[in-house]
Amino acid sequence: MNNLITQPPIENIASFENEKLINIDVLRLDKIHLIVSGNKWYKLKYYLQDAFKNNASTIVTFGGAFSNHIVATAFLTRELGKKSIGIIRGEKVEKVSHTILQALDFGMQIQYVSRNEYKNKYQISEAYSSKEFYIIPEGGYGELGAKGAAEILDSVKNLDTYTHIICACGTGTMMAGIIEASKLHQKVIGINVLKGYDALKNDISILLSNNAKGKHFEILNQYHFGGYAKSPSALINFMNDFWEKEKIPTDKVYSAKLFYAVKDLLDRNYFEMNSKILMIHCGGLQGNLTLKAGTLAF
Ligand SMILES: *Cc1c(COP(=O)(O)O)cnc(C)c1O
Repeated sequence: MNNLITQPPIENIASFENEKLINIDVLRLDKIHLIVSGNKWYKLKYYLQDAFKNNASTIVTFGGAFSNHIVATAFLTRELGKKSIGIIRGEKVEKVSHTILQALDFGMQIQYVSRNEYKNKYQISEAYSSKEFYIIPEGGYGELGAKGAAEILDSVKNLDTYTHIICACGTGTMMAGIIEASKLHQKVIGINVLKGYDALKNDISILLSNNAKGKHFEILNQYHFGGYAKSPSALINFMNDFWEKEKIPTDKVYSAKLFYAVKDLLDRNYFEMNSKILMIHCGGLQGNLTLKAGTLAF
């Protein structure tokens, strides 16, 4: 599976620099693969390995109609010669999302369930309890997801020199992995893109091993821009402005909020002099396809 992706480059964000000599680098996970970009490849890796070990022929997973996780699962299972079923939150709509169309293209069988039914994932899972099926939790949340995410930092040669590592959080699985792989002198900061998801910190904590106790991390909840799927014009303007300055594309659900947050924290003097920051750009650019053509400059 490792030969599927290319190593992510690290780039410097010159336009964020300031008189406190704070250095900001970004790990471009958006560049590792055209389809399974970002953290999804890392998060799925050990689940898929486990599915092979269990001789399961079909991967079953859960997600919304715009989920990067659904596309990545559909693609990777086909690549590995397995079948996949995507349980999608919400009834089928007339205009099927590009995300679902792409998943169908990769051979995923799509099953829509009402939002109410979806809440009871345990019951839905019961229909797939035989050995041929392997269930991956929604968004890859779980210990195997975090184990894969911990390998994200493997490619960072001078990891020790960073004082802060900052990422966006959906389920928090990636952040749990990053915390595991971080050093004791570093602080990991997670930007929560969901509104009112107060359990995030706890959901991350329960994924952490004893080894990670004592590591420093903080969740920031004030950068959700109205909620998960919300992209107000202030966010869109930021994305276009950031593209103009750095030629780095961002997605409206995660990475735009991440970059915005770091710029805002810099402006608010959050970081000490000489801090060295590593941001994780997780891709997710397919999510921008819901925007009207011409909204973005890239
Ligand atoms: C899935 C995703 C995340 C969030 O990952 P979690 O492990 O669920 O917190 C962040 N950024 C992008 C682009 C993603 O696709």
